[in-house]
Amino acid sequence: MLLQINEPNTGAQKPEITARAVGIDLGTTNSVVAVWQNGKAEVLQDDIGPLFMPSVISTSMGDLHSTKRMMHQPTTIISDNHTALTAAQDILKRLKKRAENALGHEIHQAVITVPAYFDDTARQATKDAASLAGLEVLRLINEPTAAALAYGLDTGKEGIFAVYDLGGGTFDVSILCMRKGVFQVLATGGHTQLGGDDIDALISSHFGWTDSLKARQAKETLSQGLNEELLNTLCEPLIKQTLAICDQTIKDAGITKNQIDGVILVGGSTKLQTVRILVKNFFEQDPFTNLDPDCVVAYGAALQAHQLTFGTDTLLLDVTPISLGIETIGGIVEVIIPRNSPIPIRMAQDFTTYENGQTAISIHVVQGEREFVKDCRSLAQFSLTGIPPMLAGAARIRLTFSVDADGLLTVSAKEQTTGMIQKVEVKPSYGLSTEDYTLMLQQAYKHGAEDLNNRLLIAARIKAQQLVTQLESALSLDADLLDEDQINALKVCVWDVKQTLETQDRASIQKACDTLALLAQPFAEKRIAHAIKQKFQHQTI
Ligand code: ADP
Ligand code: MG
Repeated sequence: MLLQINEPNTGAQKPEITARAVGIDLGTTNSVVAVWQNGKAEVLQDDIGPLFMPSVISTSMGDLHSTKRMMHQPTTIISDNHTALTAAQDILKRLKKRAENALGHEIHQAVITVPAYFDDTARQATKDAASLAGLEVLRLINEPTAAALAYGLDTGKEGIFAVYDLGGGTFDVSILCMRKGVFQVLATGGHTQLGGDDIDALISSHFGWTDSLKARQAKETLSQGLNEELLNTLCEPLIKQTLAICDQTIKDAGITKNQIDGVILVGGSTKLQTVRILVKNFFEQDPFTNLDPDCVVAYGAALQAHQLTFGTDTLLLDVTPISLGIETIGGIVEVIIPRNSPIPIRMAQDFTTYENGQTAISIHVVQGEREFVKDCRSLAQFSLTGIPPMLAGAARIRLTFSVDADGLLTVSAKEQTTGMIQKVEVKPSYGLSTEDYTLMLQQAYKHGAEDLNNRLLIAARIKAQQLVTQLESALSLDADLLDEDQINALKVCVWDVKQTLETQDRASIQKACDTLALLAQPFAEKRIAHAIKQKFQHQTI
């Protein structure tokens, strides 16, 4: 969902449809590609078989597994020059190629799923990996949200759902709240080292096997002396552990177990009968099981990809994909609604005037992840006029950003003393291509530290400038409250600040300002006392 001013008579443009977009579950253990065809989501099939592929990359030093776990540090070398980012890129490239073979045409766009707890870095890295693999990400959606979509929980139903996902190496549980077409993640919990692999290890050690593949096979097919009863006994403690995590997550969500309207099973390990029984007993209801837990996340992604290319009445909007903010002095972006905030959302922040007697402020709404306006995208510009003339910093202008479930942004500005309101509505459109978006994120990635330093420097300069102006104006008005030495000392300090302003050295600007502020403190107190005294005299006349 991207935001832009709706220009009169142009309307929102639909994205160009070049080919079908696919849904990809980029898993820790296995990855799956599905597409919407014949009115339903299906896992793609090529000549090798269903597009269900281990998330493994081969290197000169052997196979690399579970690289997704490192996605929060995407550029850290894991082994043999491979990072989580390059591994994801590699896996996505292979998935893309196989999907193209299966479909018989090129693929350019995909919806990719990510764990609900993935942070900004991990999400950005997933997008970057996709664009490096030649895929535009139509949207990243949360894995539990995708599973809920696959079950059609977005249409007509409202309620709270638990998504229980037991995969190969990880366990995740999410509590989702579905209301008016918006999924909100109320809480997530899990364990990063708990899954099918651990069950395999228990089986291996019971039989004294050294081959974990043998254990996995025995588990999945109940063979080689492993029967259901023994399997249940072996994995019961592990499943109990997942249920304790569910219990805590339900508490974190601020709900009780009986408020849960449905339980969705996700992940290969939920095919185990004992998991199904224990989960059912815990939640005191039958979990949904009619979709294959191996594919349910990819199904949801495929459905979302279809909806995003061909349109839908029930477009799922769960978070804001790009930060929204305004331009402040110095061309700096002040973020009001951060990226990935669940919507609908309303956020307010107070701003003030920069100059004495300022009667209007210009409000420039931007979106992007960079610190400077010039690196972000401009959405709207309007001004709030008729502010009563006041000293710089005295006016209170409250800016409110609201994004509704349709993704519509409304920005309003209100001057608090007069109640004067100006409003502008910013409508969604497809004005920003996925490439622009990817580039924006990649740039933000690359320039993050540099941007922040520049921003801090500019902010320090502005503060210093204001301090100097205020002090010079105070000295010209009330110099008679001070003796000559005091005046000279202040003037020297002001001169020092001005000197540092000639440099790019933030630390020395700040230091000079601190010294000046400290020295000016008694003067400021005297001026206040003097002003009160004068007011008192006026009143008694
Ligand atoms: P991830 O989401 O981490 O990529 P998956 O959801 O693909 O993982 O789950 C993989 C796990 O599911 C493996 O540990 C595998 O052994 C297990 N699994 C797959 N099929 C079965 C089955 N029929 N019975 C028990 N476990 C299974
Ligand atoms: Mg998974």
